[in-house]
Amino acid sequence: MEDQAGNMELISGLSRRGFLKGCTLAAAALGLSEAMIPKLLEAAESAQRPTVIWLHFQECTGCTESLLRGSHPDIGRLLLDVISLDYHETVMVPSGHQAEKSLHDSVEKNKGKFVLVVEGAIPTADNGNFCKIAGRTAMDILAEVGPKAAAVISLGTCAAFGGIQAADPNPTGAKGVQDLLSGVPIVNIPGCPPNPVTFLGTVLHYLTFKRLPNCDNLGRPLFAYGRRIHDHCERRAHFDEGRFAEEFGDYGHKNGYCLYKVGCKGPETFSNCPAARFNDVDVWPVSVGHGCIGCTEPNFWDSMTPFYERLPHVKIPGTGIIADADSAGKKILGVAAAGAAIHAAVGIGKAKLKGKDKE
Ligand code: SF4
Ligand code: SF4
Repeated sequence: MEDQAGNMELISGLSRRGFLKGCTLAAAALGLSEAMIPKLLEAAESAQRPTVIWLHFQECTGCTESLLRGSHPDIGRLLLDVISLDYHETVMVPSGHQAEKSLHDSVEKNKGKFVLVVEGAIPTADNGNFCKIAGRTAMDILAEVGPKAAAVISLGTCAAFGGIQAADPNPTGAKGVQDLLSGVPIVNIPGCPPNPVTFLGTVLHYLTFKRLPNCDNLGRPLFAYGRRIHDHCERRAHFDEGRFAEEFGDYGHKNGYCLYKVGCKGPETFSNCPAARFNDVDVWPVSVGHGCIGCTEPNFWDSMTPFYERLPHVKIPGTGIIADADSAGKKILGVAAAGAAIHAAVGIGKAKLKGKDKE
């Protein structure tokens, strides 16, 4: 079902200017030098568009919505222009048996060559019966499709780490892709939702260099998750000088002071939000007065809540160094070079879960 009507309509709306703008944004996010931009453009414009199969599991579809939303037309369209999206339940035209046939045909035709994007967690309790598509569990579908992919992109915190579904007490046994699948390179692009620029950058990196980007020890691309939000936040000077919003709406809040005391989790969160920002209006949560909630970190629904209370171990200026936040940074970046290779080590986890060797 290559170039199905729905996709073509989106692709045709992309101007050359928009295409270049999207590629340049991604190049900047990747930290590429100007000399590399022509190479990236060449890869993006190649007639050989890689096949992408996009699976939705236990989720809210917010990641897709974020990517394709109206205020980010260039990135959504650019993506559809540089890839061949063979299967995506939200935007494709076929349904029912036709859709299932599309998935099956594309997997078989592109075995070992396609990129698999997974959105949403995979429930494993009760043999995976909490999420079924066309009569098959998410576990079964991932176990069948995943090992045939050339690379897997876990898009969003749910696919990367289980997300809200995995929050305590995790009644469905929700897990992230990397907990179940191995033997194929996997990259995690967490966020709730993830930044579209980070996703586009990852795809263009794969097209340009024929491999996934280097990652930290949580499988997140270093180009996007290599720095702590706190370390490149525009309110950092206020933090260092001890100027805080004490509550929403007060003098400090209205004057752009640091949001740590009203719950900002920037000191323990790794992401490029202050640099990549969101939407065409160039904002991110902290720039518009809301603290970071740490959505790119594993288990953030458990570890970063209550969202409006300050992180317990961060020393504020004048009372000592921010020892715990800094040690959290070292812990995460310590195994930074491990990258996607870590995930290419073993077999499909579903077999482990079910106690049988299926692959
Ligand atoms: S990561 Fe967040 S936005 Fe994306 S599917 Fe999960 S809940 Fe929705
Ligand atoms: S605590 Fe939050 S608002 Fe304050 S400097 Fe750090 S990231 Fe920015």
